[in-house]
Amino acid sequence: MKAPQSPETDLIRRFFARGDRPAEGAIGIGDDAAVTRLPPGTDLVSATDTIVAGVHFPAETAAGDIGWRALAVNLSDLAAMGATPQWALLALALPDAEDSWLGEFSAGFFELAEQHDVSLIGGDLVRAPLSATVTALGSLPAGAAVTRSGLSPGDLLFVTGVPGSAARGLDGLLGRGDDDAGCRRAFLRPVPRIAEGISLRGIASAMIDVSDGLLTDAAHLARASGCAIEIDEAALAGASVGHTGRALSGGDDYELLFAVPAGHEPALERACANWSCPVSRIGVARQGKGICVPGFPLDTLSGFDHFGD
Ligand code: ADP
Ligand code: MG
Repeated sequence: MKAPQSPETDLIRRFFARGDRPAEGAIGIGDDAAVTRLPPGTDLVSATDTIVAGVHFPAETAAGDIGWRALAVNLSDLAAMGATPQWALLALALPDAEDSWLGEFSAGFFELAEQHDVSLIGGDLVRAPLSATVTALGSLPAGAAVTRSGLSPGDLLFVTGVPGSAARGLDGLLGRGDDDAGCRRAFLRPVPRIAEGISLRGIASAMIDVSDGLLTDAAHLARASGCAIEIDEAALAGASVGHTGRALSGGDDYELLFAVPAGHEPALERACANWSCPVSRIGVARQGKGICVPGFPLDTLSGFDHFGD
C-alpha cells in the first residue's frame, strides 16, 4: 500500500526543491543524501552556522531577510577561506509551516544563492522554535585556502566594507539609536564578500570574516598566528560610520579582515580594482600578542575582554 505523501515532503517540494541538477553525476534534493563531485586537484571547503530567532536576529525579522541571512553568514565563512561556494544544505526549524512565511524565506535564500550559483542540495525541516542551520560547501585549488594563521609581523591589515554598519543598523531596528536605511540593510542583508575572497588567494597572508566584531575577530587572527595586531584608530574612524567603538566591537558585518605582506600592496591594488566594496588599511601586525589600539581606551567598550591570552 502506498503511504500518503507527508506534508513535510510537500513543503520541501514546493519551497526548496527547485529541480536544478547540481552538476553532471551529482544527486540533489529527494534522495537520502546528496552526492557531489569535485575535479581532481581541488579541496572541499565546508562551513556550518546556525541562526536562532531572538539570539542572532530579532524575532520579528522578515522571513526573506532570515532566509538571506542564513545563507549569507555561511557564504561569508567560505569567502574568508578564499573558496568558491557551490552547494548548501538547509536544516530549518519552524514553529508553524505557514505558506506565506516559507515563500518569503525561500525567496530570500534563493535570491542570494542564485547570485553565487549555489545549489541547495538537501536539508531538513522540523517543527521547533525558529532557527536555520545552513551547511555551505565550496571548493578551492588544492592547498590554496587562506587561513587565520599566516600572519607575520609587519603584515598590513585591511578590512572590506564599512565596519560598524550592521551594529548601527541593529541599534536602529531595536530603537536604540539613529535609524539609517543603509545600515539596517547591512544588518538584515549582509553581503558575503565572495569575489573579494577569491581574488585574495595567493595575495593575503591571513584572513577571517568579521562576524563577532573587529576586535574579537582580529584577536582570533592574532592568536592563530602568534602575532600582535595594532589597529590605527584614525584609519578605522575614517573607514567606518559613527563611533569608532561600534566599529571595533559591533558584530554582524560579515566583512573580510585580511593581511598582506608589506611591499605587496600593488598586487592587492590589482586584485581589488573590480571590487564592489570599499577596502581600508586599518592596522599592522607586530611581534607579541593581543590587540592594541593606541589612543583608544579599549576598557570602555562593553563586552571587552582581555585579548592577550
Ligand atoms: P530523510 O528522512 O531521509 O532525512 P527527509 O524527508 O528529511 O528525508 O528529506 C527528503 C529530501 O529532502 C532529502 O533529500 C533532504 O535532503 C531534502 N530536504 C529536507 N528538508 C529540506 C530543506 N529544508 N531544504 C532543502 N532540502 C531539504
Ligand atoms: Mg531528514
